[in-house]
Amino acid sequence: MSAEVTGASQGKAVRDGREHGWAGTLFAPGAIDCDLHPTVPSIAALLPYLDEFWRDTVEERGLESLESASYPPGAPITARPDWRGPRGAAAATVEQLREQVLDRWSPRFGILNCLYGVQLLFDENLAAAFARALNDWVTAEWLDRDPRLRASIVVPVQNTELALAEIERRAADPRFVQVLVLAAGETPLGRRDHWPIYAACEKHGLPLGVHAGSGYRHPVTSLGWPSHYVEDYSSQSQAFQSQVASLICEGVFSKFPTLRVVLLESGVTWLPGFLWRFSKFWRGLRTEVPWVDRSPGEIVRDHFRLTIQPLDAPDDPDTVRRVVDHLESDEMLLFASDYPHWQFDGDAVLPPGLSPELLRRITVDNPLATYPRLGGATP
Ligand code: ZN
Repeated sequence: MSAEVTGASQGKAVRDGREHGWAGTLFAPGAIDCDLHPTVPSIAALLPYLDEFWRDTVEERGLESLESASYPPGAPITARPDWRGPRGAAAATVEQLREQVLDRWSPRFGILNCLYGVQLLFDENLAAAFARALNDWVTAEWLDRDPRLRASIVVPVQNTELALAEIERRAADPRFVQVLVLAAGETPLGRRDHWPIYAACEKHGLPLGVHAGSGYRHPVTSLGWPSHYVEDYSSQSQAFQSQVASLICEGVFSKFPTLRVVLLESGVTWLPGFLWRFSKFWRGLRTEVPWVDRSPGEIVRDHFRLTIQPLDAPDDPDTVRRVVDHLESDEMLLFASDYPHWQFDGDAVLPPGLSPELLRRITVDNPLATYPRLGGATP
């Protein structure tokens, strides 16, 4: 995470694809970066994509910003120092993204997950208007400007009917490859009121992307509100754990057998320990959830995928290999830089110590199998 941690040991880590014979590129050819974050420069940038009524509403209510409170613009981890522009903004233009990611690491595709505070709004109609504007802005300002870019559909998850309408509105554009929600919303994601969203995901070949972040309807820890941002960010894995349990226990994968869920920026290494506990107690308590007819570990390996930045593990090849072994699957990890969040320094975007075969799966095969709209195998 920090410069001290990632930078100090960078030199000894083996993670450059050029060492595996992938000439001229950091990765196997065809790599797909599954987590990029374009920054909305200001609320004014979205006004042209709102109709007159909502523009007036923004003015009358004095809305000055919908910055995601989960990523304060000035916080060090929100953007790497060398990726910030003159006024501190990062990932504000497609030119910046090209120079710092697309042309530097040459991925075949990059998937944009825009984290703007649409989910913070209590007015469901205003949230829907901003989700629409945000997706229009991403289309015009990013997707139309670089053919390597794809994006997630940001939905007003506060209201399933409105979220569904936004999915249906975007589904005709194949450059939208995923539906995006935050790890901590108003209700657990397994609850039935969300199920029409999952039906739409299945129908259109869209995984559900669950990204770190909160709508702040509830405290970000199960104990109440923390005092510091470091507690907020570190606690996100608790929300991911609860969402995995909710989606499985409520029977989502019995109802939607082809649904894939991508956990974005979750940290990854919390999963094996959690699954051990979850699977153990499922064995003892499964009579209350008869529709969960196999171990949660098996269900997770079939239905869940995780992006690799950040990877919460020491920067030591042997430890990383052991951690990845604990997942008991080579199909679960997806390459992501999490640009411009500060998860690593230099070009150390891949975990150290992984075999060329596994790196190829993480960078190319697994993303293609996860996102059918990228032209790979359907789930
Ligand atoms: Zn991210």
